[in-house]
Amino acid sequence: MTHRITPELRLLMFEHHDYCSSCGYKFKEGDTSHSGYSKNDEPLYVCDDCDHLLEETAVRNVFMPRFYEIPPDKCKLWRYMDFTKFVSMLSMKGLYFARADCFQDIYEGAKGTLKNKSKWDQFYLSFFKELIMNPPDGSEVTYTDEEIESQAEKLLHDLEKGGINGKKRTFINCWHENENESEAMWRLYSSYLENAIAIRTTYKSLYESLGRNPSIKIGRVKYIDYQKNFAGVNDSFWCKRNSFEHEKEVRAIILDMHHLEKGKVIPCDLSQLLEEVFISPNAPNWFGELVNDVIDKYGLSIKVSPSELIQEPFF
Ligand SMILES: [Zn+2]
Repeated sequence: MTHRITPELRLLMFEHHDYCSSCGYKFKEGDTSHSGYSKNDEPLYVCDDCDHLLEETAVRNVFMPRFYEIPPDKCKLWRYMDFTKFVSMLSMKGLYFARADCFQDIYEGAKGTLKNKSKWDQFYLSFFKELIMNPPDGSEVTYTDEEIESQAEKLLHDLEKGGINGKKRTFINCWHENENESEAMWRLYSSYLENAIAIRTTYKSLYESLGRNPSIKIGRVKYIDYQKNFAGVNDSFWCKRNSFEHEKEVRAIILDMHHLEKGKVIPCDLSQLLEEVFISPNAPNWFGELVNDVIDKYGLSIKVSPSELIQEPFF
């Protein structure tokens, strides 16, 4: 294995994650994926049967499903915001990713409720002890019971510390998945209904407008009952409490170990992202014109529509 991974190969591995790029075989947990290059130096990400196509093997991995579910390409995503946030997005030409510890939801990144923590600790203590007592073949290190105990406790402590630090390294940008406009979202995510707007995109446009970047993961949030369940070690930022289910959230997540600010702006091709902009149902007439003017000023051409909630009914 050469461990030579070009950006093209990395992108192929990321986008094809679940399938062999040659025969389309759907990987199962525990299968081996082979990544590398053909005779013509074309990147390949293949299954055992297609392994012979590789002239150079860069890496082999044991296949693990993603920790999050990617929505369908055409799935509609919405973001409700007040006018100042919209203008700031246009002027920065990017999307704002907030640091996970700045969210109102105190369970952001949590593994479970504190009252169940001893159960979690017990599980990982036994898991770590098992690992320490069964080292890989060839290792001759033996430990006393006390050493095993204290090493397992150290690993548990590191795991907990990693969880707490993770909140400072995880940056999130949230969307609402819905075929239609939502009255509840207008109320929830725009501080003044009068000068609020909603932007609409699709999963595919969001992914592509962020530059098809393998470092940015986009997926659906899972809603779980923390009274009975834990989030996984690797998917805690993809889980929220059941009581948030109405948000039908799709989020984009990026990790950054070195960024100390409360958020970061990720460059985004707004002309690709913004498929339509909707004006708050409570906005005065002039507000729509203002939104159009601002969009013009930033050189964009985007359809601006009134909220569908104010279309006149008949009886
Ligand atoms: Zn194959």
